[in-house]
Amino acid sequence: MTPKLIIHGGFFSESSQSVEVKIAKQNALSEIAKASYQYLQTHSALETVVFATELLENDPLFNAGTGSQIQSDGKIRMSASLMDGITKKFSGVINIENVKNPIRVAEKLMPFDDTVLGGEGALMFARIHGFEYYDPIIPQRVVEYEAKKKAKALGTVGCVAIDANGNLAAATSTGGKGFEIPGRISDSATTAGNFCNEFCGVSCTGVGEDILRVALATKIVTRVTDGMKIKEAFQKSFDELKPFEGFAGCIAIDKDGNIFHQDSFPSMVFASFNGNEIVVFN
Ligand code: ASP
Repeated sequence: MTPKLIIHGGFFSESSQSVEVKIAKQNALSEIAKASYQYLQTHSALETVVFATELLENDPLFNAGTGSQIQSDGKIRMSASLMDGITKKFSGVINIENVKNPIRVAEKLMPFDDTVLGGEGALMFARIHGFEYYDPIIPQRVVEYEAKKKAKALGTVGCVAIDANGNLAAATSTGGKGFEIPGRISDSATTAGNFCNEFCGVSCTGVGEDILRVALATKIVTRVTDGMKIKEAFQKSFDELKPFEGFAGCIAIDKDGNIFHQDSFPSMVFASFNGNEIVVFN
């Protein structure tokens, strides 16, 4: 199997971000896709999706890790999850504060029996396992917060990869919607927003409430598992968002290495590497 991967940097909003930001995001995605593809040559899909997501979390252009959106009470709470297509283990942290890389905390949780932790418990676990205090706030988010600009779901990140052994993995990380009520749960650390088995891996972005209403990632993967082609599985699942104008976008790879993406409003930024060429979209 030729290793392949696809990454995303969430949605880009024409109304609240400049063309320069869009180009910067495209360039960043291209660099991260290349570095991650290099890494995938000697690492598993699971290790690679964590590696790629960590790079995306570290880039302040994206709404995950450093540069996360600020919630209505002025705090940043982040969510991230990871799923291994072989073991079907899902691990995640929900609403964790003051760590640099939530995806690394999710990775640390994977061998445990309790694989999804929220809030203070997640933070306690992180500190016990050596994750140091980190403030992910950046000046740009403070400006946005102060202007009370209710930007829709911008810049969540994710990665799906298939390695040389044909194993799939998916990871997703977010700073949330921005201005949410403290305690609100994002889709990104649930199986609605991030799901993977041996047939298909999916990472979503968009409005978490919409993604949860149709269990988007799980639906797509289940449909592919039951024999539907990836394109049809996306189509049918995205059709389910239409009655309530659901706002979502997903990236995916199936067991045969087919890479696919779709969004309900074409403004998602992502890049894929198929072994020969890098393709940057939007
Ligand atoms: N899905 C994320 C959430 O609702 C936001 C995003 O993807 O931008 O928390």
